[in-house]
Amino acid sequence: MRLYARFLDCLGAKKLEIMLDNLGNLERTHTCGELREEDAGSEAVLMGWVAKTRDLGNFTFVDLRDRYGVTQVVFAEAFSKEAHEKVKTLRGEYVIAVRGDVVEREGTHNPKLATGDVEVRAKELFILNTAKTTPFQLEVAGKENVVNEDTRLKHRYLDLRRKSLQDNLIVRANVLRKMRDYMDSVGFLELETPILLRSTPEGARDFIVPSRIQPGKFFALPQSPQILKQITMISGFDKYYQIARCFRDEDLRADRQPEFTQLDIEMSFANREMVFRVMEGVMASVFSLTGAEFEVPFPRMTYRDAMRRYGVDKPDVRFGMELQDLTGEFSDTDFAPFASVVESDGEIKCVVAKGCSGYSRKILDGLQDFVKRYGAGGLAWIKLEDGGTKSSLMKPLGENKISSLAEKAGAEKGDAVFIVAGRKSIVAASLGALRKEIAKNEDLIPDGVYKPLWVTEFPMFEYNEDTGNYDPMHHPFTSLMDEDIPLFKRAVEDGETDLLGQIRARAYDIVINGYEIGSGSIRVHQSAIQELIFKAQGLTKERAKERFGFFLDALEYGTPPHGGFAAGIDRVIMILCGTENIRDVLAFPKTASAQDLMMDSPGDVDKSQLDELGLSVTVDPEKNAGD
Ligand code: ASP
Repeated sequence: MRLYARFLDCLGAKKLEIMLDNLGNLERTHTCGELREEDAGSEAVLMGWVAKTRDLGNFTFVDLRDRYGVTQVVFAEAFSKEAHEKVKTLRGEYVIAVRGDVVEREGTHNPKLATGDVEVRAKELFILNTAKTTPFQLEVAGKENVVNEDTRLKHRYLDLRRKSLQDNLIVRANVLRKMRDYMDSVGFLELETPILLRSTPEGARDFIVPSRIQPGKFFALPQSPQILKQITMISGFDKYYQIARCFRDEDLRADRQPEFTQLDIEMSFANREMVFRVMEGVMASVFSLTGAEFEVPFPRMTYRDAMRRYGVDKPDVRFGMELQDLTGEFSDTDFAPFASVVESDGEIKCVVAKGCSGYSRKILDGLQDFVKRYGAGGLAWIKLEDGGTKSSLMKPLGENKISSLAEKAGAEKGDAVFIVAGRKSIVAASLGALRKEIAKNEDLIPDGVYKPLWVTEFPMFEYNEDTGNYDPMHHPFTSLMDEDIPLFKRAVEDGETDLLGQIRARAYDIVINGYEIGSGSIRVHQSAIQELIFKAQGLTKERAKERFGFFLDALEYGTPPHGGFAAGIDRVIMILCGTENIRDVLAFPKTASAQDLMMDSPGDVDKSQLDELGLSVTVDPEKNAGD
């Protein structure tokens, strides 16, 4: 049967009539990335999209593309008169099938193509479908044409024809397979947990789904399967894993999406070392895809040390430039700005930038602005130039003090020292970020190197200035370090709430190249301690019962000691693919304002749907759009 498609040729604005061929029983013999020199002499049937046509009169060349590669197909009257005529009607992105002879190219091998040693001389051409002129060209001058991201996201089906995105999604599939294979090989059982849940706290806002059958009630989408995976331990499943989709309604950042995927694991009778071994094993298996060295077991660093040495809890240890503490050098200073910092229990710290003594005033001003974004009042500097030492602090501190500071910091001729003074958290954040910024600008971060790290002993609670409560830094099911339990009891039972800030949790993160890959902990398995943690975070007994009663009950029926971890798969794939854009590793990502531009979601629903749910919308979506 033949189908007919009429369409308007946009270029010539004239009506063309294209006869579409039916696929019938025709089958591909090869993909477009498969043919090699040794296939010369055989016949091949290829199918794919027209990437490019070059009409040289007697010969017409078509680059035929599928997800495996590109093959050059040649049309000529000598090979088939009919096909040679028909090829003139092809346009970009038409879907075609070609039957032809595989021939070694004569003197025109294309080393850039895997199939570049051969071409296919077309004996038959089947036009399987036409395509409109695409809203953006997929390729320009042999290179991917990366146009405005919104345009690409709106037409994601075309964007996904790009090789680099296809490659990323292939990496993604390989990572998922490696993870499953490894977890299966060490005896973990893949269990699925529901998407329609009750709220599970991971510190973010829930996405909620109204129930029609229970009007006025809501499900929440899982922020993670945390409680359910713990319950599977109570049920005796002792080694659980899941490639779990999680949903968090947070303000988005470049590397965040409202829904993401994690490798979620939990194990019973487990201490921290056992969880570490499993995670190191699965990560080593995944990173073996890169062929690069990957250190196992991972080095470890406490949270306190990470903050002290790098200013962040996810240090990039591919390069040095650690933060140095100069506070002690100013214990009896007359320099008022520093004296007040010392008095108010602040810090004065610095980083040494190797070989940066030549930084211009303009660069220094730029770095000044940079640290101000992190709350720093300013950035002081010392430059150990060949011709002498210069410093923004020369006047108030004098030459001797400046030299001794530089020496204390370990700076040498040719280096620059950058100093920030202020509240501890601000000094850490601004110098931590500055360290990375300078390393990036100076090209100090080696490519193709993967440096994993365990960060351990996280604080259990962090003070929430808005509510005045101490919130769990990880989640409330995290157990405390044994040494800190007496302090914790004093904090909760004797009302010494301030002590909560000092309690350490048996929580740990994996950090790779400065990215937090995931976190986990040894859990609370006794309901009495669990109740105390809820109390410490300001949840009344009633409220805790209302939200987590089922879980507190479950804990009382023989809960084994257990612990686990969740690794963010999207982040891992970003690192493997060398991209900082999370949308590049997802087939159908959302924008930074949490929209799917292709489907136009979130979208409106019919009034009848709202009525059925007993809901009414009180905001004007038009007015709020674009806010
Ligand atoms: N549920 C935690 C998270 O998603 C991970 C864990 O504690 O296992 O961050």
